Amino acid sequence: MTSDARMINYTERISLLARDIVSRVPRLSYIDPEELLIFARYGRTGAEGAFATCHCISLPPTDPGYYYWRDRQSGLITRRSHWFVTKSPAVFVGGTRIQYLVSFALPRFCDQVLRGSRKEQFYRQVPGWLAKLDTVVHELYHIDPQFAGIRQFERADGGNASSSHGSHFLETVADMVREYLNSRPDPALYEFLRYRFSELEAKYGGVVATTFRTFPSYPQRYIEFLPAGEQPVLPESVRLQPLKTPARPTHFTEYDLIVRQFTTGATRAVPRRERLLPDLVRQMTPPGPQQRAAAIEHDK
Ligand SMILES: [Zn+2]
Repeated sequence: MTSDARMINYTERISLLARDIVSRVPRLSYIDPEELLIFARYGRTGAEGAFATCHCISLPPTDPGYYYWRDRQSGLITRRSHWFVTKSPAVFVGGTRIQYLVSFALPRFCDQVLRGSRKEQFYRQVPGWLAKLDTVVHELYHIDPQFAGIRQFERADGGNASSSHGSHFLETVADMVREYLNSRPDPALYEFLRYRFSELEAKYGGVVATTFRTFPSYPQRYIEFLPAGEQPVLPESVRLQPLKTPARPTHFTEYDLIVRQFTTGATRAVPRRERLLPDLVRQMTPPGPQQRAAAIEHDK
């Protein structure tokens, strides 16, 4: 295929936009774009699923634990697994450890509209594509400013609402979207959000995006068993239950990133000459303080 160079690299555009957003919206200035990696997953337009997801990969290992199985009648533990901890995968880009990933579901994200969405109520007389800018800000806002891994949300009743963030969160995001646009950013930075997926394909001859070589898999927390010498003794009444853990990479660098072309119904790897993290991205200097943050959240 000869038209690769002309195709729009969607995740690269989002990365550039995200850098501009955190440089212009003070409430997001704690985010260091160097510690953020944006990649694409496949998601069909119209199908159930998130438009984008913020993945924390900076949480410390858990305390050691194990799975166990009880006898339904006696309530006694009859089987247990080896003891293990769960760990975050390590992702390094240009020597910098990435603290969080944000994935965008293509082509679904490109076809997102404001009408009928939960956030519609926070916008008046704006074009529908602003829903996409809202999602980008939304995912950035999920990054925790306190190093705590997950930004916690309070429901009106004071309970914890990390899975559904309530209207205050959405309202704050809409407010930051307005704040960003009012700061008079270069329209070229968000122009691409105006187009639906089919329009992007027509305009650019195709849509490509950053993915992990392991596509559709991507870095996720994994189980690591304690060494044999640190495994607590198994009581005689308990049987050991082996755990099947998928053998997948736990350490990634920029060489594990590849560009894929996304179409309405499929994806394909783009030849390696189309390198990821193009110079364009690297030329921009991130403003604002460097802080670590992380969050995990699925957003529809
Ligand atoms: Zn969310």
